[in-house]
Amino acid sequence: MPDSRRSRYWLFFHVVFLYITISFLWWSYLLHRNNYENYHGILEREQQRYGQFGDFKATPAYAELYDNFKRTEWMLYGEGAVFLFLIGLGFWRIRKTFREEIAMTRQQNNFLLSITHELKSPLASLKLSMQTMQKRQLDQEHIQKISHMALDDIARLQSLVENILWASKIESANFSLNRELLDVSALTSEIYQRIQEKYEGHRVFIANIEKDVHCYADRLSFASVVYNLIENAIKYSPEKATISVELTGDEHNIYLNVADTGMGVPDKEKEKIFNRFYRIGTEETRTTKGTGLGLFIVKHVVQHHDGTIHIVDNLPKGSIFKVSIPVGA
Ligand code: ADP
Repeated sequence: MPDSRRSRYWLFFHVVFLYITISFLWWSYLLHRNNYENYHGILEREQQRYGQFGDFKATPAYAELYDNFKRTEWMLYGEGAVFLFLIGLGFWRIRKTFREEIAMTRQQNNFLLSITHELKSPLASLKLSMQTMQKRQLDQEHIQKISHMALDDIARLQSLVENILWASKIESANFSLNRELLDVSALTSEIYQRIQEKYEGHRVFIANIEKDVHCYADRLSFASVVYNLIENAIKYSPEKATISVELTGDEHNIYLNVADTGMGVPDKEKEKIFNRFYRIGTEETRTTKGTGLGLFIVKHVVQHHDGTIHIVDNLPKGSIFKVSIPVGA
C-alpha cells in the first residue's frame, strides 16, 4: 500500500475511534443525567405529596427509589467501563496489526532493494572481469587475479541464492532435517579456515575449537549457522577487529560462540534481528549490504535442532552470538 494511502487510512481510523469514544462518553453522560433527573423528579414530587404527613425519606418507598437509582447508576458505570475497555482493546489490537503490517511492508521493500543491489553488483563486476579477459591480452598473473575476483563474485551470488532458498524452505511444513552423527569440530574448523583465508590480514582471528565434538545434526543446515555467524561477525566489524570462534561440548549439548569487536547490537534490536528481512537502520543509514535473511535462517535451523540462540554484548565492544544444541540421540 502506498505511504500516502496508508496515512489516510491511519488518520481515518483515529478519527473514527475518536468519534466513537466521544459519542459513547456523551451518551453515557446523557443516560447518567437522565437517571439522576428521574430520581430527583420523583423525590421532589413525593416529598411535596408527603409534606403534611411526614418525611418521604423515612419510608420504604424512598428506600426502593434510592436503590433503583443507585442500581441503575452502577449498571451504567459497569457497562460503560466494559464498553470502554472493549473499544480500547479493539483499538490497540487494530493499531498493533496495522503497525506490524507497515513494518512488514517496509522490510519487504528493503529486502527487494537490497536483493536487487546484491544481485546487481556481483553481476556487474563479473561482466567487467569477463570483458577485461576478452578484450586484452593478459599475462598469467593477471588472468589469475581476475579469475579469483570472478570466483568471489560467483560465491557471493551463490550464497545469496542459497540463503533465499533456505529461507523459503525452512518455514514450509515439509521441511525436514537430514540428521547424522556429525563431527562438528571438523566442520566448524573447515568453515573457519576457509573464511580466515579469505579475510587474511583484514581481521584478527582467534579459534578455540575443541576436538571431537559430535552431535546429531543436519550437515548443510549446521554449516549455514557457522557460516552466517562468522560472515556477520566480519561484515559488522571494522578492519583489524578481532573475530573469535569457540566450540565446546559436554555430554548434553554443543556450544558455539562467535564473538566480534564490531559495532554491536543495541538492546532493543537484539530480538528483532532474527526476524525475516530485518536489518538495523534504514537504507540511508546502512553501510553494509545484506538481505536480512542470515540470522532468520540461523535461528530456524537452531530451533529445528531443539537448540537455542541468543546474543550478548561483547565488552567493551561488539557482540557474542551463543548457540547451544542438544547432542541428540
Ligand atoms: P544481513 O546481514 O544480510 O543484513 P542478517 O539476518 O544476517 O542479515 O542480520 C540481520 C541484521 O542484524 C543485520 O542487518 C545487522 O544489522 C545485524 N547484525 C547481525 N550480525 C551482527 C553482528 N555480528 N554485529 C552487529 N550487528 C549484526
